[in-house]
Amino acid sequence: MRTIAALAGLAVGYALAGQRRRREGRRAVLSKTVGPHLAAAIHRRKVQQVARQLREHKSGRPISLRKRAVAHQVPKAGDLRRRDEKVDISDLNAILHVDPLKQVCVAEPGVTFVDLVAATLRYGLVPLVVPELKTITIGGAVSGCSIESMSYKVGGFHDTCVEYEVIDAKGRVITCGPDDLLFQMIHGSFGTLGILSKLTFRLTPAKRFVRVKYEHYRTLEEYRAAIVDHYQRQDVDFMDGIIHSPRHYVLSVADFVDEAPYANRYDWVKVYYQSTARRAEDYLETPDYFFRYDRGVTNVHPKSAIGRLLLAKFLGSSQALRAAEKLNWLLKKEQPTIILDVFLPISKMPEFLEWYGREFRHFPLWCVPYRRPRDYEWVAPDVFSRSPDALWVDLAIYGMKQRGDRNYHKLMEQKLRELGGIKTLISHNYYTPDEFWQTWNRENYFEVKALTDPDNVFRDLYTKTCKAAMGVGSA
Ligand SMILES: Cc1cc2nc3c(=O)[nH]c(=O)nc-3n(C[C@H](O)[C@H](O)[C@H](O)COP(=O)(O)OP(=O)(O)OC[C@H]3O[C@@H](n4cnc5c(N)ncnc54)[C@H](O)[C@@H]3O)c2cc1C
Repeated sequence: MRTIAALAGLAVGYALAGQRRRREGRRAVLSKTVGPHLAAAIHRRKVQQVARQLREHKSGRPISLRKRAVAHQVPKAGDLRRRDEKVDISDLNAILHVDPLKQVCVAEPGVTFVDLVAATLRYGLVPLVVPELKTITIGGAVSGCSIESMSYKVGGFHDTCVEYEVIDAKGRVITCGPDDLLFQMIHGSFGTLGILSKLTFRLTPAKRFVRVKYEHYRTLEEYRAAIVDHYQRQDVDFMDGIIHSPRHYVLSVADFVDEAPYANRYDWVKVYYQSTARRAEDYLETPDYFFRYDRGVTNVHPKSAIGRLLLAKFLGSSQALRAAEKLNWLLKKEQPTIILDVFLPISKMPEFLEWYGREFRHFPLWCVPYRRPRDYEWVAPDVFSRSPDALWVDLAIYGMKQRGDRNYHKLMEQKLRELGGIKTLISHNYYTPDEFWQTWNRENYFEVKALTDPDNVFRDLYTKTCKAAMGVGSA
């Protein structure tokens, strides 16, 4: 019996050590372990392998990507992309270099934010924008649309990038920077303009803890005024919030601090967004702050205390999304549950929320103030001429059941066109081509597309996100 126990102990110890080694490997900085020349050579080899797959693609079937981390797209019934030919980029997941003096990092697109934060924190630095879910990747953050509570200062993660390496559909490797249209258009292109193979982005100094203060407001006017005030004063490191109901608005403003009287974690029984309704203040270790919503932003499963006690430790966002994708045949094609987020000029927030409270009546909402640092090239020019605000807010709805036979997604698309807002494309999209290109910039998009994917092997943005993802068309 003792021998069996000892063997079992050894096996568990070996497995845990293996897991720890793998985790540490993912968090290592390649130029530090093998030197800058070998790191560059290893990266070049991986890029050539991806480029070769593209050059050898002859079947005419559309291509999408196979990466190691789970995709943070709303899982959709009948998504044609499941049947696409895959280009395997799962090896592109190394942190190539951290320069602590220049405060920049160079990394491959498959690096997840949880690994990135662990690696850069060793230098006392973190990315300027860390999306709230652990396994969002840096490539996905640029190609999709990732934001977080530092966005009120800097915009999206893509706004903190200074250079991309892109492999185009013909396998050519292109380096581009902020002055190039390709660089500006790759954000939100959902893999339709090329494959990001290397990103260079800025870092910022961090401290060990984050202190969060919760400001509670009873009216939208007070809430909006508080957001604008912090934005104008730039007086906190982080700002986001939860709109619990039309009578309870919470603004969570936070700062890095060196010391903390305690440190809370929200990765098991306690639910972060619920805590914001009750607390005046909180302290978290910095990585726990960044990933405080990893168990679900406002749509946390399991919901019951006993369910959370038994299961929540093992059910992060990755596991939930992977399970939904595996069981995709169970997903509803008609009236799918609503998970979406919208960008709105802050001046339109009252009109939007008045309408939303009448038509949707679904709370809580996650609210992320967002500074728009430029007139983005990927947005149709008319949008910014109608809504010149520099401060926008991202409002996210998670898990609303649609009522009756109304299509609430379509309703939202219509309202946003009216108000000059933008819906991100990760959710169910019902736009017609005309409606779509009223918001996205057709001219700039196809100018780049003609150069990087003239034979349309990645599909175009409209077809990929509004047709193929929705199960419309041929695979
Ligand atoms: C349930 C849910 C919750 C979310 N919560 C948050 C949140 O809290 N904070 C936040 O900021 N965002 C959130 N998002 C949005 C998320 O940031 C974006 O969907 C982001 O694009 C996901 O990145 P990913 O690494 O999972 O990429 P994926 O989902 O795998 O990919 C996104 C798109 O980018 C393309 N792509 C991926 N890698 C590359 C590459 N190397 N080159 C070219 N194209 C590429 C893919 O083909 C795909 O079209 C959420 C999304 C969902 C579905």
